[in-house]
Amino acid sequence: MSDVPSNSIVAQPPSRLQGLDYSVVQQCMHCGLCLPTCPTYDATKEERNSPRGRISLMRAIADGRLEPTKAFAEEMYFCLGCLACMTACPAGVNYAELFEQARAEAEDRRLIESPRRSLIRNFTLRWLFMKQSRLQWAGRMLRLYQTLGLQALIRRSGVLKLVPKRLRELEAMTPTVQAKFSEQLIPSITPAVGTRRYRVALLTGCAQDLIFSDVNRDTAEVLAENGCDIVTPRGQLCCGSLHAHNGEWTLAQQLARRQIDQIPPEQFDAIITNAAGCGSHLKHYATLLKDDSAYHQRAELWDAKVKDIHEWLVEIGIKPVPAPDRPPVSVTYHEACHLCHGQKITAQPREVLKAIPNLKLVELPESTWCCGSAGIYNLIQPEMATELLERKIKHIKSTGAQIVATGNPGCLLQIMNGANHESLGIRVVHPISLLAEAYRAGRLTEPSVP
Ligand code: SF4
Ligand code: SF4
Repeated sequence: MSDVPSNSIVAQPPSRLQGLDYSVVQQCMHCGLCLPTCPTYDATKEERNSPRGRISLMRAIADGRLEPTKAFAEEMYFCLGCLACMTACPAGVNYAELFEQARAEAEDRRLIESPRRSLIRNFTLRWLFMKQSRLQWAGRMLRLYQTLGLQALIRRSGVLKLVPKRLRELEAMTPTVQAKFSEQLIPSITPAVGTRRYRVALLTGCAQDLIFSDVNRDTAEVLAENGCDIVTPRGQLCCGSLHAHNGEWTLAQQLARRQIDQIPPEQFDAIITNAAGCGSHLKHYATLLKDDSAYHQRAELWDAKVKDIHEWLVEIGIKPVPAPDRPPVSVTYHEACHLCHGQKITAQPREVLKAIPNLKLVELPESTWCCGSAGIYNLIQPEMATELLERKIKHIKSTGAQIVATGNPGCLLQIMNGANHESLGIRVVHPISLLAEAYRAGRLTEPSVP
């Protein structure tokens, strides 16, 4: 029997959408120009699955005309958060802010609670991703499972046929954990090669540190080649983007404050990230901490200092790469949503690729269309994510490229999975790793000083 009397009124938390600045809520003029760019609308042709439909729902809640329901929460989680609608919108609707507040409202009101969902969220968002040491511990366990041959044994044994299809699919998507994490690959201070021009901090990320620590090492090498002293702080934290995109606003604020304390923006010319999803979030700490008088000003400085690696390299000028004595290789470029739509960075990654002498860039059709990774979207909305991945792989195949480059760990993993599934035999790599390899090759062929 419940302890709560049946006629009692359960206090609801204040509505986040009602608390938003109304100028954000009422910006949409219903023109529909965003509709053709929205992957979920494209898939269903349902107005409620479009940016305009979702914004109407949010506005109705903000106006007090609609109570948030489970269907509303499910709609917010069907949205990829890819922000293609923001690029298309002539009215400058801040969909990113609306979307994050709408998901936070869904979580505050526990609109789609279930014991299983709570358990997963408590373990991942509220525990695992709050400390890098916990993530590294989990990464080491997974690495043991992979290197001791248990994963291969389980896959061969056929035991996976006995588990539900969804679990089988998740198992197949498990990324390979790197043998060494960033702290073992990158010194805490890396001096510039030659004359020092800048002093920067390098963010090594959370999942990025476990799965793509080699990309972090490559980023440090490229920065050093380009005249940067690099500080890589130990014990770094998750930037909080995963939390903000999944309705955990308070935890995202906590992580933002801790980041600013750990990497004081006043001490660096730039704070570098190589993960598009993180960069898009890291540049908005001032919005996240707008009501925090102790941090707001520093958060504004932080936002100004955060640079995506491609953006920073083009800003300071890419050091020329020596031409190798090798045949050209074709590369195509997939634009991570949070780089092209979230940060409006489209030309710079192409400039990085074009700076590598033996690479021939072949444009990818629909390069800005989401690949279905979208944070953890491929885990919670597998059907839609698979549809998008198949579309992306079809376009990659059409280019005939030998390499696919993309600047976000989620996209790298998603496209790697798609390429493996189709046995494409194509390399999937971060653009910065290609540049680092080119510098390394150039060093090997440099004439030695007599
Ligand atoms: S964020 Fe992406 S999926 Fe969501 S409404 Fe905008 S375009 Fe559609
Ligand atoms: S979000 Fe922008 S593009 Fe889409 S309907 Fe509203 S005003 Fe038009």
